[in-house]
Amino acid sequence: MTAAFINGTKIAEDIKIEVARQVKDLSRRGVQPGLAVVLVGDDAASSAYVNLKAKTCEQLGIYSRKLTIPSTVTTEELLWEVRKLNDDDKIDGILVQLPLPKPVSKHTILEGVDPQKDVDGFHSHNLGSLLLGHETLVACTPLGVMELLYRTGVEIEGANAVVLGRSDDVGKPQAALLMHANATVTICHSKTRNLPKVTRQADILVAAIGKVAMVTQDFVKPGAVVIDVGTNKVADRADVQRLFGDDEVRWKDFEKRGYVWAGDVDQRAVKEVASMLTPVPGGVGPMTIAMLMKNTVKAARIRRGL
Ligand code: NAP
Repeated sequence: MTAAFINGTKIAEDIKIEVARQVKDLSRRGVQPGLAVVLVGDDAASSAYVNLKAKTCEQLGIYSRKLTIPSTVTTEELLWEVRKLNDDDKIDGILVQLPLPKPVSKHTILEGVDPQKDVDGFHSHNLGSLLLGHETLVACTPLGVMELLYRTGVEIEGANAVVLGRSDDVGKPQAALLMHANATVTICHSKTRNLPKVTRQADILVAAIGKVAMVTQDFVKPGAVVIDVGTNKVADRADVQRLFGDDEVRWKDFEKRGYVWAGDVDQRAVKEVASMLTPVPGGVGPMTIAMLMKNTVKAARIRRGL
């Protein structure tokens, strides 16, 4: 069997078209959704993500504001900036780009965001609401994974779903969403015994561990749907060769940037056993941004009682 690749780029484009339509509808009612993105420090990757988010807002007609804050900021000072955004009526969604510099308390900052503007879905109020099955703002990446499953017609109800990873931003909300969609869910992590035996039970396997190509063929039941959330930089020539062989596109990327992106799944091996697989890049990544836009519009509607 050779897996069909799930085209996240295409599905994300469809979602963005839908969001642009919703933004137009709202503008007829005098509302323009607004997103504020807070960037602390000058990390190149974070800065690139933030710029991409701002550009996507612009494309869809969403107002966007970028706050660049020096890495020397204290937790108190950053909290003050977040609170100003909480009180700003033009802003419906607030995203604090992670990671934050070490001395800043991530927990304090994320809990400082007004839950109604928490388009990342990281606030404990929103995570708790998700667990209770209430309508709420949900983390963009797991939400994007659900859209990929829905829009490719994967049967979730009754399926065995295994989520590999239990982080607050991906694994935990992912497991809750799959459970609410009536899958039978198992969560795995670094202390799980005999991991491949557990993951081989999965009809749907979501890998979110941040370990390059750790999910090999023996982790996957033949015919399973495999979602690769991992986004890992591979900068070693020998690793690129091992993972991608003579793949021209990867080598072109490597020569241009000095690294390539790889997922948590050994894609070349797993595509021989899975029925569907998300590529990296071009799978879950574009969905995360599309869902951020969708969440911003949702937050605008909720906050304005529409
Ligand atoms: P994280 O916070 O580092 O969590 C990693 C999870 O994987 C933890 O629960 C950890 O277990 C588990 N884990 C680590 N090594 C393991 C091993 N050898 N065996 C079993 N479990 C293991 O990472 P994250 O934020 O969830 O992100 C995971 C990956 O997704 C990263 O590559 C990240 O870049 C990517 N990501 C992509 C997007 C996107 O838009 N495409 C968005 C978010 C994240 P313990 O809890 O036991 O430590």
